[in-house]
Amino acid sequence: MQQDFINVILPIPIEKLFTYKVTKEEAEVLNPGMRVAVPFGKSKIYTALVFEIHNTAPTVYEAKEIDQILDDYPIVTTIQLRFWQWLAQYYMCSIGEVFRSAVPSALLLESETLILRNDRVEIEESDLPDDEFMVFEALQHQSILRVQEISDILDKKNIIPVLNRLLHKNIIFLKEEMYEQYKPKLVRYVQLGKNHRSEEHLEALLNSLTRAPKQSQVVLSLFQLQAVTKKPVKVSDLEKASNSSSAIVKALIDKGILEEHFVQTDRVVYGGDEETETLKSLNDYQKGALKDIKSSFEDGKVVLLHGVTSSGKTEVYVKLIEEFLSQGKQALYLLPEIALTTQLISRLQAYFGEKVAVYHSKYNVQERVEVWNNVLQNKPVAQIVIGARSALFLPFKDLGLVLVDEEHESSFKQYDPAPRYHARDAAIVLGNLHGSNILLGSATPSVESFYNVKVGKYGYAQIERRYGNVLMPDMELVDIKEQSRKKRMKGHFSERLLEGITETLDNGEQVILFQNRRGFAPIMECTTCGHAPQCPNCDVSLTYHQHRKQLRCHYCSYHIALQETCQACGNATLDTKGFGTEQVEQELNTLFPNANVGRMDLDTTRGKHGYEKIITSFEQQEIDILVGTQMLTKGLDFRNVNLVGIMNADSLLNFPDFKAHERSFQLLTQVAGRAGRTKKRGKVIIQSYNPNHRILQQVTTGDYNGMFQEQIYEREQYKYPPINRIIKITFKHKDYNKLNEAAEWFAKSLRNSFGASVLGPEYPPVARIRNQYIKNVVIKIGGKYSLVKTKNSIKRIEKSFNAISYYRGIRVIYNVDHI
Ligand code: ADP
Ligand code: ZN
Repeated sequence: MQQDFINVILPIPIEKLFTYKVTKEEAEVLNPGMRVAVPFGKSKIYTALVFEIHNTAPTVYEAKEIDQILDDYPIVTTIQLRFWQWLAQYYMCSIGEVFRSAVPSALLLESETLILRNDRVEIEESDLPDDEFMVFEALQHQSILRVQEISDILDKKNIIPVLNRLLHKNIIFLKEEMYEQYKPKLVRYVQLGKNHRSEEHLEALLNSLTRAPKQSQVVLSLFQLQAVTKKPVKVSDLEKASNSSSAIVKALIDKGILEEHFVQTDRVVYGGDEETETLKSLNDYQKGALKDIKSSFEDGKVVLLHGVTSSGKTEVYVKLIEEFLSQGKQALYLLPEIALTTQLISRLQAYFGEKVAVYHSKYNVQERVEVWNNVLQNKPVAQIVIGARSALFLPFKDLGLVLVDEEHESSFKQYDPAPRYHARDAAIVLGNLHGSNILLGSATPSVESFYNVKVGKYGYAQIERRYGNVLMPDMELVDIKEQSRKKRMKGHFSERLLEGITETLDNGEQVILFQNRRGFAPIMECTTCGHAPQCPNCDVSLTYHQHRKQLRCHYCSYHIALQETCQACGNATLDTKGFGTEQVEQELNTLFPNANVGRMDLDTTRGKHGYEKIITSFEQQEIDILVGTQMLTKGLDFRNVNLVGIMNADSLLNFPDFKAHERSFQLLTQVAGRAGRTKKRGKVIIQSYNPNHRILQQVTTGDYNGMFQEQIYEREQYKYPPINRIIKITFKHKDYNKLNEAAEWFAKSLRNSFGASVLGPEYPPVARIRNQYIKNVVIKIGGKYSLVKTKNSIKRIEKSFNAISYYRGIRVIYNVDHI
């Protein structure tokens, strides 16, 4: 008798698909992309995904039976399966690893998953079927249980379907979903009551208020404000515009003449009126760019939109999105970091209302599953998806447009865990699988994308003017070497920068200061013996955090209390070297005691909403000076910032990495772009020990082409991307000697195949992290060599490597297109 089998993807790092036995009936209902619960190993149960259905028994093992079918229809599309295959092949990982990171974990229950009871919902126990009730009851006695334990309690092998139902009913949730609960600040808005919105009604209303001139003034101001924005108006703005007190506004609300709303500034659920704003009409530069984009789309090309900061790129994206939506298609809008979306979401929701969905890894599993299902069913509520990397993995049905904003950002590349993909590049592949149009945008395109334009692979569109003809900021370089010599520095501030800050604050405007290091000072060093406290687990010096009076490791979060005396020589001569954001903040508090200083870096933005809190209070002008790391650079649109100061440009330039110069250009240009985005010309002051550095000259003159030419020349000379491709192989182990030997063996085998294009093994700048020693080998692959063949050879070498028992336990990590 012929038997039916399925090949499934297991969410674990094994190379091959696994084969299971199914019955005829099961085979009939199963389709690729449906989940099944399967036994694996001795006693584990996994959620696996059907890849294909066939009649060939496996030859090397006896196929087991599946436990259960979990879906009625595929939750993963065939395009997604092809996309995953590509990712696994290109980025040299297993398709199981792709599966695990692509799908929200609530869809991936397995034996080890931790289950918790949700205390926040009222449950009518009598409504629960027996098996669900038993789980519910078990969780009353013990608040956290493994799936495996629940399975023992119920004396049932496969309880994944029950748990799926309970998850769906919100009765249980998974461990990793526990986030700190943050209640975002509510902003108070008002608008005219429904009955008073038209011109005629307004007149009647004003007549009725003749004896309350102050109230009448408020109504008039509100009418004027709404004529401009059409949206509800912030109470604070209204009070300012009408020069009135909150008591008067309240009186009008009580009378029903005004309606009030409270809106969370970071809300995800669209809470506004059904009415949406009409799109802005584009200016001639924007129109020109849009025309070029469309004509390249017709040739089926990916297009790069190169528009200076504040040129109105977002409005061009919006126009395109609208066109695709009106054809009923889905649009994906990728951003390098989700932190950026706060501003963008409000902007897009103003145009597209509830059609905008947001998806990212900081969302809890329930929210993610909801977006997943909405996208899968092509619902209007998820026609536009904004997200960071992971939004690529949604089950799009009819994806018309893929937008990658800030395409130059290196945070598009995933480092850990596998798949170590570049979201921009993967988005292009995804777009091609769907036959979508693809647009990349940036004020400072990556060298590789601009190169693709130059060689004719990508289309190109450009906007060279800021919107409203606002001038590009005025850039000034300050030589701090000379200033220090002349003793003109106050702390880390030059006279010029101090003058600039004073002037800006006097004008009631805001300041952004950029320093690329967090903490107080990178290093504490003893001035007597030179000893610097080190992390015991990593090969780095500890960073001094003054606020917590601690020395911390930025790699493993090891920390100790600040020491009074040097541990090596015993002298009380510890001093700081270098400086971070915390120190800048402290100096500002002394230099400008009347200004409110805020700080934005990894330390102040932890937690789900840390970033939004800071952005909001800066937007609402509660903060006058914002000090931050590169988090500040990314696409933020602050109206009132007129000065941007760069504390020290040199630390960026001296990074040991082929992209360091390109990245410095991008970073500095982007931070500078936060200055003077409306009307008035902004000012940028860059402090440096080396103001004649080519990159600084290129930044101050806005010479993107000069930067590109120089960088491309260097990449050609040293055979780096985009001319060559690179694969970095990292080896990790806690035994220093074993690691050295293993990396040496691997590199030698690689050299047998690839000769001189193999570099290393070498230690990275931080050669030990969390007690694991690290060595890297880099392979450069020239344009005429096949990437696929190269990868196959590497994999073959890895097979032989793994066969050597002494090397067992050494981790080998591939990073394709490492940046
Ligand atoms: P970019 O994305 O290029 O940095 P934005 O799209 O944020 O630029 O535009 C900068 C500012 O100019 C925004 O406040 C935006 O609302 C405004 N703006 C851009 N295009 C238009 C337009 N066509 N009409 C009115 N305002 C516009
Ligand atoms: Zn450490």
